[in-house]
Amino acid sequence: MNISFDNTENAFAYKSDKELKGARFLFKTMEYPWFVQVGTRLTPFIMKTGLPVHGIIRKTIFKQFVGGETLEETAEVGAILGKYGVQVILDYGVEGKEGEENYENATDVFIQVINYAATQSNIPFISIKVTGLARFGLLQTLNEAPRLRSGIHDHEAEIAEWDRVRERMYTICEVAAEKNIGVLIDAEESWIQDPVDRLTIEMMEIFNKEKVIVYNTIQLYRHDRLHFLKLSHKIAQQQGFKLGIKLVRGAYMEKERERAYDKGYESPIQADKVSTDKDYNDSVQYCIENLNDISVIVASHNEESNLFAAGLMEEKGIPHNHPHIHFSQLFGMSDSITFNLAKEGFNVSKYLPFGPIRDVVPYLMRRAQENTSVSGQTGRELSLIKKELERRKG
Ligand SMILES: Cc1cc2nc3c(=O)[nH]c(=O)nc-3n(C[C@H](O)[C@H](O)[C@H](O)COP(=O)(O)OP(=O)(O)OC[C@H]3O[C@@H](n4cnc5c(N)ncnc54)[C@H](O)[C@@H]3O)c2cc1C
Repeated sequence: MNISFDNTENAFAYKSDKELKGARFLFKTMEYPWFVQVGTRLTPFIMKTGLPVHGIIRKTIFKQFVGGETLEETAEVGAILGKYGVQVILDYGVEGKEGEENYENATDVFIQVINYAATQSNIPFISIKVTGLARFGLLQTLNEAPRLRSGIHDHEAEIAEWDRVRERMYTICEVAAEKNIGVLIDAEESWIQDPVDRLTIEMMEIFNKEKVIVYNTIQLYRHDRLHFLKLSHKIAQQQGFKLGIKLVRGAYMEKERERAYDKGYESPIQADKVSTDKDYNDSVQYCIENLNDISVIVASHNEESNLFAAGLMEEKGIPHNHPHIHFSQLFGMSDSITFNLAKEGFNVSKYLPFGPIRDVVPYLMRRAQENTSVSGQTGRELSLIKKELERRKG
C-alpha cells in the first residue's frame, strides 16, 4: 500500500519551528514517569489553591492538546487543520462539573457547538460525555439497577432525574440531526457504562433511521466488547436503524484494574495488550465488512491498526473517502498518522477539545499519563518531531 506514516514534512507542515520546539520540550518532559506521576497528582490540587499556574499550563500542555479556552479560539485551530484536509471532532471538554444547572449549561453549549459546526465545512462531528449531562452517582445506580432486587424503578426522584438526562440528550441529538452533524458519545468507566450504552442505543433507534447521526464508543481493552459490538449490530438490524461506532482501546485501564482488585470482582480489562490489539483489529474488520449498515470511526494512535484499516479498504476496493469510514486521532498526538492519511484522501479528523483551563485538567492529566515513556507513545512522537526539526535545518 502506498501510505507511510514516516513523512514528517506532511505531518508537521502546520506547525512553525517554534511550535515544534515547544512540542519537543513537552514530550521530553513527559519521558520521565516520576515527573508525570507527581505532576498529575499535584496539578488538580494546585489549580484549586488559586496559585498562578494557569500561564505555564496554557503555554505548555494546554497548547499541545487543547484547541483553546473558547469556541472562538478553537475555531482558529480548526481552520488551520482544514487547510490540510483534516477534519475536526469538536469536544466541549469540561469534565467533573456536577449539578443540574451545570448539566443545563452544558446542553446549551453542545447546541452552540453543533450550530457552529454546521457553518464549517470540516467539522462533521461533536463529541459528548454523558457525565457532562448526568450525575455520576445516578449513572452508577442505574448501572447496578438490573442487579438490585427493587432497582431504580422504586425511586421516583431518580426516575425524574434520569428522564431529564434523556431529554437533554434528545434535544442535542435532535438539533444535530437537523444540522446533519454526527454526535459521538464517549465511553467512560465500566461501572457507569451500561446506562450510557442504553441511552445511546435509544438515541440511535430514533435518529439513525436513514443515516448515522449518533455513534456509540466501544473500548476494546474490555474483554466483553467485541461481543457487544456484534450484539449492537444485531439489535440495529432487528430494530431497523443504522449503527454508528467509534472504536477505541480505552483510557481508564489502571483505574479499572485497581477498582476490580479493591472490590474483588473480575477485571473487565483484557489479560494483555496483545488481546486488546487483536479485538481492536477484529472489530475494525467486522465494521468494514458490514459497511452497509455500520458507520465506523477508527479512533487510534496505533500505526498498525490504522494501516490495517487502510489496507483492508484497499484490498476490498473501498474508496478512501467512503462516507462510512473515518479515522481520528487526538489533537496534539500522532500528526504523522492524521496528516499522512489526509494527504491520501482518507476521511480523517482531530478530536479537538476546548474549555476553560481549570475544567479540562482531567483531560490533560489523562493525556500526560498516556504519553509517559511507560506507555511508549512519547518515544515515537519525540523521534518524529526531532526528525522534522533536523530536516528543516536542511
Ligand atoms: C478520537 C479518539 C477518541 C477517543 N475517545 C475515547 C473514549 O470515548 N473513551 C475512552 O476510554 N478512550 C477514548 N480515547 C482514548 C483511547 O481509548 C486510548 O486511550 C488511546 O487512543 C490509546 O490507544 P491507541 O489505540 O491509540 O493505541 P496504543 O498506544 O497501541 O494502545 C494503548 C492502549 O492499549 C491498551 N492497553 C495498554 N496496555 C495494555 C495491557 N497490558 N492490557 C490490555 N490493554 C492494554 C490501553 O487501552 C491503552 O490506552 C479516544 C482516542 C481517540 C484517538
